[in-house]
Amino acid sequence: MIFRKSKFLFALLVCITLMAAGCGNTATTTVPQEQTTKAATSESTSNSQKPTELSKASNETTTSSQSATSPSPTPTPAQVTGTLQVHYIDVGQADSILIKSSDGTAVLIDGGNNPDGPAVVNYLKSQQVKELAAVIATHPHEDHIGGLDTVIKSFPVKAVYMPNASNTTKTFEEFISAVTASGAKRIQAKAGVTLDVPGLTGQFIAPNGSGYEDLNNYSAVLRLTFGKITFLFTGDAEELSEGEILKSNQNLKADVLKVGHHGSSSSTSSSFLKAVSPKYAIISVGTGNDYGHPAASALSRLSGAGVQLFRTDQDGTIVATCDGETVTFNKNASMPALTPPTITPVTPTPSKPPAPATQPPASSGSVSIASIDLAGEVVTLINNGGSAVDLAGWKLVSEKGNQTYSFPGGTTIPAGGTLKVLSGPKAVASTGALMWTKSNMWNNDGDPGALYNAQGQMVSSR
Ligand SMILES: [Zn+2]
Repeated sequence: MIFRKSKFLFALLVCITLMAAGCGNTATTTVPQEQTTKAATSESTSNSQKPTELSKASNETTTSSQSATSPSPTPTPAQVTGTLQVHYIDVGQADSILIKSSDGTAVLIDGGNNPDGPAVVNYLKSQQVKELAAVIATHPHEDHIGGLDTVIKSFPVKAVYMPNASNTTKTFEEFISAVTASGAKRIQAKAGVTLDVPGLTGQFIAPNGSGYEDLNNYSAVLRLTFGKITFLFTGDAEELSEGEILKSNQNLKADVLKVGHHGSSSSTSSSFLKAVSPKYAIISVGTGNDYGHPAASALSRLSGAGVQLFRTDQDGTIVATCDGETVTFNKNASMPALTPPTITPVTPTPSKPPAPATQPPASSGSVSIASIDLAGEVVTLINNGGSAVDLAGWKLVSEKGNQTYSFPGGTTIPAGGTLKVLSGPKAVASTGALMWTKSNMWNNDGDPGALYNAQGQMVSSR
């Protein structure tokens, strides 16, 4: 009895000494059995509280790890499991972004132009998306909501976030009727609204007002945090909205910025960029678009801020993968990929990473536009070469209408063969003929067409 008591006192003394020395971990080896349990219990409770606090804190800030003063040698920075992927899908002069966590939770921001719907659906299927926990329609312009009706008809959708803004276009009508038919919950996106998706931490920081002249300023702006990494999705928000966000004193710091309005000069103001202070930025933009996007001024503001830039017109579909601590980028993820893209880590230095050699061989010289029947809405492509050409990643552009058709994966033209791309109300897909859309894509007054290969180079125009 006396022996146990003195042993206990000794252990207590050791404990106190070691605690004072600040290395409680080693105490357990010298403490008798019952004390070990107690010590372990008290330590585990204090540990289980700490990460929660820490994760809450790290959700609010994007500062890098500060675990040097922490008594625990294993930093548990955030209570995130698995990875989060953000796919900036190459939909030409438009936006479409898939957010997907490793448990399968998927959220889609925008769905490209009207003709992009099927390609976006294919892409989501290739990423094993089974349902969408949320669709975010940033604002009612065609290059954002155009393909969403097709997407919403193709997947179960739990909720649709959209600003309180409407448009008089057929595209908007189609979008709204698809939302209504889906039975998805409609939630107004505005500053202060939380993204209600289990496992994702996101908050809208705009719009902060109403009555905007330009629909772009209604853009739902989402700030999404995964562990220590924060993403900002800005839609087409312009300087006016950026100024309101700044005035609202919301936290807008982010590691990865989706540049506003396709890199237009009227977005990404210096003060906004400074407040966000991103390490990486993505511009979703089409090759040779009519708007001159991205603007030289926006590009110079980004490069002046030392931001590492990715562009869908140059890099194709861009996939950011985040483990809660770091984010890596994969460029040229094939558009209708049938296998998950491989990830190439990006060094934290501002130098550009090497492009992975995933591009299809550019045996493209032999394919050209043989004819465009503007009234009949039929484009005929011909392969004059001696071998079949894979059109995965290729695009056909109606230049006046600024409409882009992305060839689905698995499309090939045999040597000496032709392939038709049909549009208009009478269009029906068949062997040798792909259907673009039921809408008229070609202006009958001599609308030129251009064909781009998977590297974004124009190979033919007519
Ligand atoms: Zn846009």
